[in-house]
Amino acid sequence: MNIRTRLTLLFVLLVALIMLLFTGSVYYFYDQFRQQEFQQRLEERAFTTIQLREDVGEIPRTDLSFMIDEQITIYNDQGLVLYSKGTQRPRFPVSPGLLRRITTRQPQYLRQGDIEAVGVRSQNSRGQSFVIFVSANDRYGFSKLDRLRDLLVVGWLLSLIIAGIAGYLFATDALRPVAELIAQVNSISATNIHERLRVGRQRDELAALARTFNALLSRLEVAFVTQKSFVSHASHELRTPLTVMMGQIEVTRLQPRTTPDYEAALDGLLDEVQNMIRLVNGLLELAQANADAVMLRYQPVRIDELLWQAQSQMTQKKPSYQIDIDFENLPDQEEDLVIMGEESLLQTALQNLLENGCKYSADEQVSVRIAFEPGEIHLTISDHGQGIPPGDIQHIFEPFFRSENVLTIRGHGIGLALTRRIIDLHQGRIEVESALNKGTTFRISLPTQTNAALRQSALHLTNETHSDNSLDIH
Ligand code: ADP
Repeated sequence: MNIRTRLTLLFVLLVALIMLLFTGSVYYFYDQFRQQEFQQRLEERAFTTIQLREDVGEIPRTDLSFMIDEQITIYNDQGLVLYSKGTQRPRFPVSPGLLRRITTRQPQYLRQGDIEAVGVRSQNSRGQSFVIFVSANDRYGFSKLDRLRDLLVVGWLLSLIIAGIAGYLFATDALRPVAELIAQVNSISATNIHERLRVGRQRDELAALARTFNALLSRLEVAFVTQKSFVSHASHELRTPLTVMMGQIEVTRLQPRTTPDYEAALDGLLDEVQNMIRLVNGLLELAQANADAVMLRYQPVRIDELLWQAQSQMTQKKPSYQIDIDFENLPDQEEDLVIMGEESLLQTALQNLLENGCKYSADEQVSVRIAFEPGEIHLTISDHGQGIPPGDIQHIFEPFFRSENVLTIRGHGIGLALTRRIIDLHQGRIEVESALNKGTTFRISLPTQTNAALRQSALHLTNETHSDNSLDIH
């Protein structure tokens, strides 16, 4: 059921209930009023009859009946009928118990079907007590009541029809902006993702929805454009080594070569292939790190062990690299050394930073400082290399970005994008400070295992295994 139908039905239901309550109470109170009025008339009739009996001694047989089906009956205390006048057959039933209940102060009202009766006790001049019963049919009163009921039912049904039409028009009008929004949203696709929804009435909820949707579109547009440029950058990065390799092969094949020449050519090709594998691995890792965080398997990782490992891996790969590790302070408890994380990703992030520091410094030296404070670990990785031009600092975490001053050194511009994503996944922060030709410092802060916030979120992570899809370069 759509919202318009539901709103209309709810509206009709509400009006129906309110009107039912209203018409029901009108009917009920009118019926009460009719009954009281008729009771009063019956009592007056009883008292007039008593008066007549007192004054005239007899009730004249010619006394015209005031009311329809009127029956006047007088009983003595023993329940014997002293006098009866009327056309009711059978007479209104009166029991001795009822007669006893009627006192001079308290007349009794009774009803049987359409006939209503009032019993009044009185005394004659000789001091004898008797009860006079007057019963009649309030036909006029009942027909007015029936008329009122018919009017109320018709009025109630009419009001429902009006409420239905009004509700439908009202819901249609209220939902028109929604229909417009739907049409606008439907017209937006990948080709016109730059278009935005028109925000109608500025302050209502639908305007807020349109603004929220526009904000989402803006974020999607950025992601979409980034994705597009990522693909073109990646293709370009892959094409370059392939072109180099093709050139090398073509040149080698121009004429017959000696074995050392072929070996040299193959070495060059191998170098390019390794370069490509490095790039593909970087791309794969980036894709992996960009995958949903719940796919990762977080485990307690000791930050000092992670650092020593990264240091030994780097120096194994490039013995000329020099990495110094220095502890600023030692933690009070061993848990302050532990973070909840994905070890292989953290290893990649650290190695990227260490490699950059050595790669972009003439002395190939990097110093790492670790500082502990409750709930947080701070790593400072600094070098005395060529630094980053000030205008480039804001771009270095973008995929494929490389500064002009490092273009002679091999790289793909993926490492820092990956590193930042990994630090984000671990709810950490990464900042950079650099002075051209003086050096660069990266500062990383990571929450420790004891940090309640991270532990809380780590609880929600599934234990799905993190498969390593990267190619190995030996
Ligand atoms: P790559 O090192 O493969 O070029 P990165 O993503 O690791 O890619 O780094 C991106 C860019 O940031 C580098 O090309 C370089 O311009 C700059 N950069 C990163 N680290 C340093 C550093 N320690 N010293 C100087 N420049 C750096």
